[in-house]
Amino acid sequence: MSGLKLTNVKKSFGAVEVIRGVDLDIADKEFVVFVGPSGCGKSTLLRMIAGLEQISGGDLFIGDERMNDVDPSKRGIAMVFQTYALYPHMSVRENMGFALRFAGANRAEIEGRVAEAARILELEPLLDRRPGQLSGGQRQRVAIGRAIVRHPDVFLFDEPLSNLDAELRVHMRIELARLHQELKTTIIYVTHDQVEAMTLADKIVVLRDGRIEQVGSPLELYDDPDNIFVAGFIGSPK
Ligand code: ADP
Ligand code: MG
Repeated sequence: MSGLKLTNVKKSFGAVEVIRGVDLDIADKEFVVFVGPSGCGKSTLLRMIAGLEQISGGDLFIGDERMNDVDPSKRGIAMVFQTYALYPHMSVRENMGFALRFAGANRAEIEGRVAEAARILELEPLLDRRPGQLSGGQRQRVAIGRAIVRHPDVFLFDEPLSNLDAELRVHMRIELARLHQELKTTIIYVTHDQVEAMTLADKIVVLRDGRIEQVGSPLELYDDPDNIFVAGFIGSPK
């Protein structure tokens, strides 16, 4: 069980409160999308869930466990960033296996997991290439592969497609939907792209200035936005 629960979660940097009391329930295996203007706190919220930022106030539960002070490596979470640095001197296979090797997994286990990720992401023919010999979309799939091999309960994606061109984004969107079907994990996904949010999300969370403005299914937000702000992001004009 890997649902998440955030209660009154806050984050301050110095005197500035950038996350101002977020309450949110995410069901096991749900695909949740965070949208909102630049600077509203989407990345900060993800980084707190991942354990890359300390939570200033409130509680974070993953499953039944309070995670506020749990080490990032013990949260069952893997994060895929917008800018993902692959190791240029390593093959695709080595890039995907590296973190496992680092964590002390044995060779058979690493090989098995890399093979599984390569199958899911259709990277099998490319396993011996280096990043420099891949297209942008292929490189992004390798970055996702590095997360998949860790068998996380929860995937966090921070604008993973925003550096790709429009055509590739459409393709990757379809891939991500398929990935969610196949992996059956909880996904929290940040995007600027309204179409991405509408097509991928079970539930959309609209953020504004460190707070949740509205939560709902794509259809609920589209048909019945609470206000002009939400309408501007997702819905039809009210
Ligand atoms: P988003 O991802 O929605 O664009 P962020 O979560 O990156 O927004 O940032 C939210 C706010 O927190 C912004 O005002 C940003 O400047 C501020 N912020 C983010 N990280 C830091 C930090 N390490 N130190 C100080 N302020 C930060
Ligand atoms: Mg961000």
